[in-house]
Amino acid sequence: MQCPRCKYSSSRVIDSRPAEENTVIRRRRECEECRHRFTTFERIEKTPLLVVKRNGNREDFSREKLLRGLVRSCEKRPISLETLEKLASDVEVDVYNMGESEISTTTIGELVMDRLAVIDDIAYIRFASVYRQFSDKNRFLQELEELAKRLEQ
Ligand SMILES: [Zn+2]
Repeated sequence: MQCPRCKYSSSRVIDSRPAEENTVIRRRRECEECRHRFTTFERIEKTPLLVVKRNGNREDFSREKLLRGLVRSCEKRPISLETLEKLASDVEVDVYNMGESEISTTTIGELVMDRLAVIDDIAYIRFASVYRQFSDKNRFLQELEELAKRLEQ
């Protein structure tokens, strides 16, 4: 991305965040030559993205649906809606950046859980129990043990 001041062709990204209902990514950049800081808005290619469910059915990816799931998992937890909206937006940007036309619910679940684990243990385990459906009982027990260990610390 060219520097608007000195026209140098290389810049460093300082910060990225979704804007305008996530159709655009706003980036703060710094020119590697003159250190001038500027903002760019880059449109996200909205190629249709299908979510492949466990039973093989497909449906359009929906940030709103993801957010509703998050709100359910975080009921009565000290987490602001703003935090959840940011999480949903980050995951949306991630899935579109993968550049695939289809993505599994498992992959989306993992992306959410990585972030949720840092925010709130209880919300994490609730979300995990829904997304993974814990078909593997040992996996569930392992998760609970890990959670218990984290809570003790
Ligand atoms: Zn410059």
